[in-house]
Amino acid sequence: MARYWNEMNYSQPTEKELKENAKNTRKKAAAKGQTLHPIVITSRQIAKSWWGKSWCENLERYADFDTRLPRGRRYVRTGAVIDLQMKKGKITARVQGTRKTPYKVEIRISPLSEQRIEKITGKCTTRVESLDQLVNGDFPEELKEVFLDEGGLFPKPREISFSCSCPDWAVMCKHVAASLYGVGARLDEEPLLFFSLRGIDTNRFVDVVISSRIESMLANVDKPGKRIIRNAQIEDLFGVL
Ligand SMILES: [Zn+2]
Repeated sequence: MARYWNEMNYSQPTEKELKENAKNTRKKAAAKGQTLHPIVITSRQIAKSWWGKSWCENLERYADFDTRLPRGRRYVRTGAVIDLQMKKGKITARVQGTRKTPYKVEIRISPLSEQRIEKITGKCTTRVESLDQLVNGDFPEELKEVFLDEGGLFPKPREISFSCSCPDWAVMCKHVAASLYGVGARLDEEPLLFFSLRGIDTNRFVDVVISSRIESMLANVDKPGKRIIRNAQIEDLFGVL
């Protein structure tokens, strides 16, 4: 029991300790030539964009997670997530705790089936007018619902599995919770990473969405009374490419 209590006590570092350890880890990584991709929260909100906020809200609405997640908020704000990488079906993170070596977190998110990808891509081609609009989350409510609903982009608890190198990861430790919030913050910067995470090939996705939009604009050129496409409009579509 005493040992258990000590471990619990040991796992509650002060903010100062966390920052100091994180600084040392960053120095060591730099000395080895490693590039860390940290999560830096500079405002009161962890995520500000539609994608980032929706990611966090999606996780918070599940009873499986809601008692575990709050511990991650404090952690991610202190800069404990010193590295976070996202790729198809997988998030890997290094999270600083009291001990000098950061904990290794791995979160797996089931990639979407081809059928679901086709459905989502199809909806985007008819509802999204430019890549800017998609990236900024500036699209009609009905498309937001397609993304958020059952079978959409945002994962359900059963599609999420995780592990951490700390002793109490099985019940979602604060390192996993901080990493999940870190994903929300990362999506503010790079929302298309979310598509990659769910197994959508972003290059192909962008090609399909953009080319179908250009096709429909060009189709309108020949129709009298319809809007004439100008070069500037085509350039707008490629604005963020
Ligand atoms: Zn952990």
